[in-house]
This record gives sequence, C-alpha cells and structure tokens, in this order.
Amino acid sequence: MLSRRSVLATAAAGAAVSATAAAAASFGNPDEPPQGAINAKNPASVTDPGPQDPAISNQLQSAFSPPATDVGSMRQIWSSFNTSPRRIQDGGWAREVTQRSFPISTTIAGVNMRLTAGGIRELHWHQAAEWAYMTYGNCRVTVLDPSGRPYVADVKEGDLWYFPAGYPHSLQGLGPDGCEFVICFDNGAASEFNTLLVTDWLAHTPPAVLGKNFGVPEETFANIPLHNLWIFQGKLPGDLEAVRKAMTGNAALPPEPFTFSLASAPYVTNTKAGSLQVADSNSFKVSTTVAGALATIKPGGMREMHWHPNADEWQYYIKGKARMGVFNTGPNVLTMDFNPGDIGYVPRNFGHYVENIGDTDLQFFAVFRTPQYQEVSLSDWLAHSPPQMVAEHLNVDPAMVPHWPGSDVFIMPG
Ligand code: MN
Ligand code: MN
Repeated sequence: MLSRRSVLATAAAGAAVSATAAAAASFGNPDEPPQGAINAKNPASVTDPGPQDPAISNQLQSAFSPPATDVGSMRQIWSSFNTSPRRIQDGGWAREVTQRSFPISTTIAGVNMRLTAGGIRELHWHQAAEWAYMTYGNCRVTVLDPSGRPYVADVKEGDLWYFPAGYPHSLQGLGPDGCEFVICFDNGAASEFNTLLVTDWLAHTPPAVLGKNFGVPEETFANIPLHNLWIFQGKLPGDLEAVRKAMTGNAALPPEPFTFSLASAPYVTNTKAGSLQVADSNSFKVSTTVAGALATIKPGGMREMHWHPNADEWQYYIKGKARMGVFNTGPNVLTMDFNPGDIGYVPRNFGHYVENIGDTDLQFFAVFRTPQYQEVSLSDWLAHSPPQMVAEHLNVDPAMVPHWPGSDVFIMPG
C-alpha cells in the first residue's frame, strides 16, 4: 500500500518532469490557458478602471474575481428580488422573478409579497400550484378544495402553505404589522401578476347572469368594483375560530392541513456546523409537487458537495452571506455570492456546495419540484466505493477513503 508520503513524493517528481510542458496548470488552477487573479503577474490585469458600481460589485465578489477553478459559460445561477420592481398597492406589494428574467429557472417562479395588517391579496386561483414560506409577521390563509371543504389557518415566520393548482384561495396580513413571505409556483413561467381574480370575473359577466348564478336580484351587484383589486387594504379580520365557523357552515373539513411549520419540522441534521430541516409530501401531505428544505449554516460551515437526482433546486437567501459553486459537464463551473433577498438555481444533477462566507449564521430555504426530497453526497458516494479504486482516481491514501463523511453529514464545520 502506498503511504501518503510516497504518494506526495511521486506527485512532486511528476510535477517536476512536466513543469516545462505545462507551466501554469496546477492544483487549484487546472486550466489551459490558466485563468483567475492568481495568474496575474502584471497587477493592472486585475484592476477595473471603471465605470463601475461598487455597491453591487462588493456584494458579488465571486463574479468580480472568480476562483481560478471556474471554467466555461454556465447559464447564470444568480438572481434577486432586490433587482425586481415592486408593484405597490394600498395594502401591500409584490415583486417576482420568473423564467422571463431568470432563464435557467424553468421549474419554479418566485414571488416576494408584503401585506399590511388587514391588507388582502384578493380571492383568486391560478394554473400553477403555490408553495410559500413566511419570512415575517402573521398571515391568515383561506382555501377551498374541489370537494367543497373549506380551510382557514393563521401562519407565522417559518411556516408554509401549499395550494394545489386551481384551488381558490386568499391571503390577509394580521396584526401587529402584517406579514412578508415568498411564494414559489411550480412552473417557472407562472406570474403573480396574471392570476384568475374574482373581481375580474364578476366585472366581466352580464349583471343578469350574476343575478341568476347567485339566485338574487342583479342589483345586488350594483356596486362591485369595475377594476380588479389584486392587493387592497381591508379591515383586520376577527378571531380565527369565529371566522372558521362563519365560513364553514355545513361543509366538511379537508382531511389534511394546507399549512405546515418548516421551522419546527424534525431535523435531518443539527450539529454545531448547522442544521437542515425538510418538508416534503411524507410530512406535509398536501404538498405533492413541491419539497422544501431549510438550511442554517454556522460561520465557516459548508453545505457539502452534493446533487439532487430528481429535481432542480430553487433557493431563497434569508440571512447571512453565501458562496455557491455549481458544476456541470463541459466542464462548466460557476461560483456566485448570495445575500439576503437573492435567489439561486441549480439544475437537476448539477454538483454544488454552499459556503457560509460571513461571520453570522447563513440561512436559506430551497424548493424542489418533486413530491420527495432526494440528494446524493459526493463524500458519501466515494466513502462507499472501493477504496483502492478511489485512491487510483485521486492519488490519495486508500486507508482514509472509508472514513470520509457519510450520508448523515450534510453540513461540514469550518
Ligand atoms: Mn395565489
Ligand atoms: Mn442542494
């Protein structure tokens, strides 16, 4: 068996022999021609005389000065709500990042919405399923299933809701200061600005038809709004139980809740390096098209190198500073930095890792358009391959291979 010392000695001898043939390709800088700031002998090679916007480039240092291991021309994996225009109404606002502005994001469209205390996102439905994560405050949700079973619940920071496609629903901010949340549609082309609205339909139906439909005189609807409401300021709703009673009548209740607490879901891992929590259709039964995961990573920690065999990953960065590297065939490798409000996207089976590069906790959630969360760990795979074979691939000591982190690690400490 080769000792680590003899492996290193052999590698050093090999490097000396080929030093003239491949002057620059090296550990950490493999490409010909070499790239990255470490190649720059002339200091002017890395300066940017401008024009430039330091407020942006300082936030995205991996774009300004990529690692020398980056290569190729992968589609952009970074986007942000911070650069999306807000549509502001009395009662709240929303902004969105869809496939239109973020082409790689084919499976998920993201919406960031704020509702004031009493602010209402009007009664509506749409073609895509809606999964949402509460980032702030308190919100009341209502929904009706196709068997006519109504549901109402109040949600808070860390909670989820899921409405299957076509299920009609409403959202309303509660006290003391309304709410903010992120919606993920299970279709990258879906838009929050193009939903089926109850006010649009009524205003565009002949009054006589409205009267006949509801079994009342058509004058009942003489004062309906002629333009849609979308988001509007309402009154603070009453006590949840009283509202449930008033809206349920004789109807049955749905068998499974449309809301779930991701923040209090069981831990997949919880160590001093960080934690991971998952909610998919195993635990959040109604969420049949979207699986969600909440990752908290301590300073210096890293979500290990892995990939997802069954779905693309759409990420929303809640707090802290992250650096993600994404790998595909080609090779193509792109490293980008992420700050609160930013969005990341990793196509199915593309390898990736996420590092906490700040000095506070990093937290993000990830959604996958699949009923079941799945991942493959690079380290676990290699640790459970023939050690001698792995050693022959990587010129490492075969004795160490079985000790590499296994399937239960997820997050490595700094
Ligand atoms: Mn909706
Ligand atoms: Mn991942």
